[in-house]
Amino acid sequence: MLPRELIDLHIHMGGAVAPHILWSIAHQQGFKLPVKNYFEFVELITASPDKVDSLDSYLKIMHQWTEKIQSSPAAIERSVYEVIGKEYRSSRVTQIELRFNPMKRNLHSELDLDHIISAAIRGMDRAVLEYDVKACLIFCLAREWDSKLNSIMVEKAIKYRHRGVLGIDLAGTEANALELKPEVVSQYEDLFEHARKGGLKTTVHTGETKGTGAEGVIAVVEKLKPNRIGHGIRAAYDESAMKLLKERDVVLELCPTSNLQTKAVEGVKEFEHIVRTFWDRGVKITFNTDGPYLLNTDMSREIALVEDNKILTPHQVDQTLAWARDYSFIAKH
Ligand SMILES: [Zn+2]
Repeated sequence: MLPRELIDLHIHMGGAVAPHILWSIAHQQGFKLPVKNYFEFVELITASPDKVDSLDSYLKIMHQWTEKIQSSPAAIERSVYEVIGKEYRSSRVTQIELRFNPMKRNLHSELDLDHIISAAIRGMDRAVLEYDVKACLIFCLAREWDSKLNSIMVEKAIKYRHRGVLGIDLAGTEANALELKPEVVSQYEDLFEHARKGGLKTTVHTGETKGTGAEGVIAVVEKLKPNRIGHGIRAAYDESAMKLLKERDVVLELCPTSNLQTKAVEGVKEFEHIVRTFWDRGVKITFNTDGPYLLNTDMSREIALVEDNKILTPHQVDQTLAWARDYSFIAKH
């Protein structure tokens, strides 16, 4: 029997390209690497538990190396192509929404952004054709950037909407309590409104790390009106946040292995509690990889983690896959 068809709605290109592909790209470009051999390179760009114990240390690997190696049209085309093919071959992922920030791959404006974006679309088109899958791109805005840079990203996403850039995301850590405040979240309100009017769908990273609470989730839902939320696990500890997510029909993109590795949750028990709480309150959830290579996972392992630990039954998992399809930015037909 063929494995069931899976969907990945939350996967960052910076954590999704296989080390041997990055190695090959780095060499093709004559990139100077601070390692002696391939195995040291693998060490450098994967998030082994002794290296990663927080979201910040995880993101650091992504920013320092993978994004840099992916910074050329040829590198980006191959990266997108390889990620989509790999997800299909390893886990039969037939629908994938791949997110990245093109402006973090144009070497601080040395490269033309349209070349980077067009290359990503070419890579996607090739993989879609070869594997007969559905795919789209999501552009990540960055919390650490000013609104001018982020608005360029939104304009570019709108410009390439008809070529398969279907949404925007707001990524980066909620570094301090201030960032959770409605008045701070509000600074993205016009940008998100503009994106919606331009025909884009929206998702926002929030409520991921411990100590951020559900306050950020509530502010994001009310101010930015996203279709989905990346993580949002802190909402499981706040009834009003869950009520709001249900009322506004906002779907959560959960990433089990990522949460375990970055210590966003204590362990499988806490993750189980979070998932069950959302399920009981009628908050719709999906399971995703976040960064399969950086985290040493793939979609089938994410689903196995949920089923093998009896967090949800296979039947319930099927329901989460149906939600992933329903709330995907890619139209059903
Ligand atoms: Zn993410």
